[in-house]
This record gives sequence, C-alpha cells and structure tokens, in this order.
Amino acid sequence: AILQEMYEVYSVFLKRCEEYFLCRYLPPEGVSSVGEHLRLERDLYLQKLPEEQRKSRLLVFDYLMRRETCIIGSGDLNAVDLMEIGSYTELPGGNISLPTGFSSILGPLAKHVPPEKILKGHAVSVVRWNNAAEDETQLLGAQMEEKQKVEILCDNGKVFYADSVICTVPLGVLKHSAKTMFQPPLPDNKMTSIEKLCYGTVDKIYLEYDRAFFTSELSELILLWDKTDDTADMASRWYRKIYSFTKINDTLLLGWISGEEAKYMETLSFEIVSEKCTEILRLFLADPFVPKPKRCICTSWWSQPYSRGSYSSIGVGGSQLDIQTIAAPLYAQPHHTIPSLLFAGEHCHPSFYSTVHGAYLSGLDAARYLCELPGIVNTQQDPVTAASDSSNSKQTRTQTSADADADEEARAPQTSSSRCENKNVSQKDASTSDLTLTVEGTADLSSWLHGISLN
Ligand SMILES: Cc1cc2nc3c(=O)[nH]c(=O)nc-3n(C[C@H](O)[C@H](O)[C@H](O)COP(=O)(O)OP(=O)(O)OC[C@H]3O[C@@H](n4cnc5c(N)ncnc54)[C@H](O)[C@@H]3O)c2cc1C
Repeated sequence: AILQEMYEVYSVFLKRCEEYFLCRYLPPEGVSSVGEHLRLERDLYLQKLPEEQRKSRLLVFDYLMRRETCIIGSGDLNAVDLMEIGSYTELPGGNISLPTGFSSILGPLAKHVPPEKILKGHAVSVVRWNNAAEDETQLLGAQMEEKQKVEILCDNGKVFYADSVICTVPLGVLKHSAKTMFQPPLPDNKMTSIEKLCYGTVDKIYLEYDRAFFTSELSELILLWDKTDDTADMASRWYRKIYSFTKINDTLLLGWISGEEAKYMETLSFEIVSEKCTEILRLFLADPFVPKPKRCICTSWWSQPYSRGSYSSIGVGGSQLDIQTIAAPLYAQPHHTIPSLLFAGEHCHPSFYSTVHGAYLSGLDAARYLCELPGIVNTQQDPVTAASDSSNSKQTRTQTSADADADEEARAPQTSSSRCENKNVSQKDASTSDLTLTVEGTADLSSWLHGISLN
C-alpha cells in the first residue's frame, strides 16, 4: 500500500515538473532542477503525515528517484533542468520488446544497402569538413571540386571523400573528441551546446544462476536503503545506487545503476560486482543461502570509447535549443548550397532524445534534408555507410554516410534502393522535383514507431 501510495504521489510530482515546460510557469525561486523540485514537494507531503509514517515513505520516494535517474539518463536529478524535462515526449503505446532484438529494425533497413557499402572497423578520427580554399575563384574546376569535398580520415589509415557527411557518433563521443575530430573546429555555438547537454551513464548488471531462487510471486526486489552519505568513499557506497533486481526469467536477474556509481562499477571486475550483489540479495531476502550467480555480466557504456555514456538529457541551463544547435547542418562556405556536415543520432531529436526512435527519426531528417536540397541528384551514387564495431552492442550501427568515396573498396555497383528516389520524373528534372527517401520493406518499422507490437 505504501509503495502504491508513493508511486502515485511521485507520478503527480513528476508531472508537475513536466508542466513547467508545457505551461511555462516560473519555478519557485532557487529551484532549477528536477531533483530539487521533487524533494521540495516530497518534504511538503511528508510534513503533513505523522512522524512514524514518514520514514518508509521517504525510502520508497528515494527508490523512485534512483529509478528515475536510469529512465532520464542522468545519474543525478539535481543536474536535470526543471524547465526542460517536459520537452521529452513519450511515444504512446508503451515499451516494446523487439521479438528478435534490434535486427528486426536494422534488417529491413540494411537489406537495401549493398553489404560492401557498410564498412565495419573504420573508426573515424578526423573529419575535414571545410577544405575549401579561402578564395575558390582562383581554383580550376576539378581542383575546386576536390577542395570542396569533405575528407574523412579513419584510424586504420583509410581516407574517404564526400560531398556531405552525416555524423552520427554519440553525444559522449562528441563531448570527448569533437575538438580533435573536426577540422576546422566546430563553431563555438555548437561546441557550447555539446557541453551543455548531458550524456549520462546507465548500466545493467545481469546475474545468471544455475537454479531459480526467487519465489514465483516475486518479480522484482526493490532495494530501500537508509540515507547514503554521498561524501563517503565510492567503494563503500556505489552499490546503493542499484534500485532493484528484476526477474527476467527464473534464473536471470537484472539490476540497473546510473551516474558516478555506474562509472565506478565499470572499474570493478565482474567477480567483485557479483559478490556485492550476492551480499545485497542475501541481506534483503534475509536468506544466507542465496546462491552465487554462475555468471555476472555488466555493461560498461561509459568506458566504451565509441559510446562514452548511455543517453542524453537536458542539464540545468540547457534547453531544446541546444539540441537544435547541435543538429543544425554546417556549410563550408556561405555560398555553398550543399551542407558539408550534418548531424543525427538520439541527441539530435528535440523531443525523442535518449531513444532509438529519436535516433532513427533524426537520421531520416538529416537524409531528407540532403535529398530535398535543390540540385541534389542521388541516382549516380549511393550512400556509403561506415560503421565501426562497438563491443558493447549487438547492433550494427551506422555512423557516417558519404556519397562519394576515393577508396577502391567503396567503388561498388550502385544497386541499393535505400536512397533518394526521384519520383516519376526524369533525372534532368530532379533539381526542381519533389524528392523523397524510400526504404522498401520497412512497413513494420512504422508500426513500431506508432507503438504497435511487432507480434
Ligand atoms: C542501458 C540502455 C538502455 C536503453 N533503453 C532504451 C529503451 O528502452 N528504449 C529506447 O528507445 N532507447 C533506449 N536506449 C537508448 C538507445 O539505445 C540510444 O538512444 C540509441 O541507440 C542511440 O542511437 P544513435 O544512433 O544515436 O547512437 P549509437 O547507437 O550509439 O550509434 C553510434 C555509432 O557510432 C559509432 N561510433 C562512435 N564513435 C565513432 C568513430 N569515431 N568512428 C566511427 N564510428 C563511431 C558507434 O560505434 C556506434 O555504432 C538505451 C540505452 C542504454 C545504454
């Protein structure tokens, strides 16, 4: 009953936070974060209750806040902007478990891209997006064409040239490497927005057992800890950030952890994490015979060089404008009609940031932006898509697209239908015609986007 009561109270308080964005109310003075606002409302609520009823409710509220850090993707709700939390939009239809994993999304998309055009193991180190000479009028036609190309340098020594590049590296990678990755450096406003958006760490801990020990009625073990001293040594408190263990099946448990505590956990061996989790389970189940897991696997999104975190949120002082600033295409020269550099990824969607559908839709937006530019004819060469392997992910992820390529590997026949198609008009007329991006066989994808189960 207390859990139900506090869950309802918490939901109302969170909704009120969201209303600041939707209704543009002014928050109470000195309150700028979601964490501060939630605590303020919590304290007012608890004050009205008899002393003896407060503690258990306080602990449940604290659990809900720890859980929220994993949902929002910021380890500390005091770092999440109060005025902007409402900018995130939930897709109707609830969460969907993809029956066969992300391959059911990527499969239909990748099917139309010739395999040789998806390059794995090509980590991009430098993107020279403005090679144009200061005075282009002094260059001859061919020279100028070469100069106007974007040059992409990979860690493995390969070099690619493109008219335009769509950069989909995660915000964490932009935060870490944008200064060195882009030549010339990205404009100041883009760099400031990259700094202002948050890219939090959220990790999962999987515990696999030889035998079931959760009773059949128990689906989740919620962990209510007494107040944690946040100034204490991380080694003595990191595990208190795990908010629960959920039963995935009879022999598999899942715990979630966020923020600095998650980063610390990533430095520990699976063995140590496993021992600590066993200790916690024995304590909370009051059962010294809880078995040790036969296997413990933890994600390490913060430590992965091609992720450097999990997903984006809007930090105190940031806004949706920062997302738009990051996503804005860059033109090498003011008179250029085609942007050299475009951006996509979850951090580029103003209301679906932090999600797969946000990433997908922002990619479509960037591609459509290019396709709809007057004078773009995409029937000559298909996009070359390079994707590096991310050891933490089972997905094949697209990271950069280039429409021309100096490398032999990429000089493949153009057969893909995953491209801009000029609907019912001749190529000659393409510059003035309506161009649309079509990807055949992705009807199920739109069902997914509308929240309808693929089953
Ligand atoms: C624990 C967890 C749970 C989540 N749960 C959900 C959920 O329930 N629902 C939901 O919608 N979303 C969820 N997400 C978020 C979702 O996974 C991401 O928002 C989404 O994958 C982002 O897609 P993206 O294309 O922007 O970035 P990514 O999928 O990270 O793709 C970026 C790609 O760029 C590559 N790359 C990076 N640097 C370089 C480089 N220098 N050169 C070449 N390639 C590079 C990476 O290897 C990667 O392949 C979750 C994320 C995590 C971590």
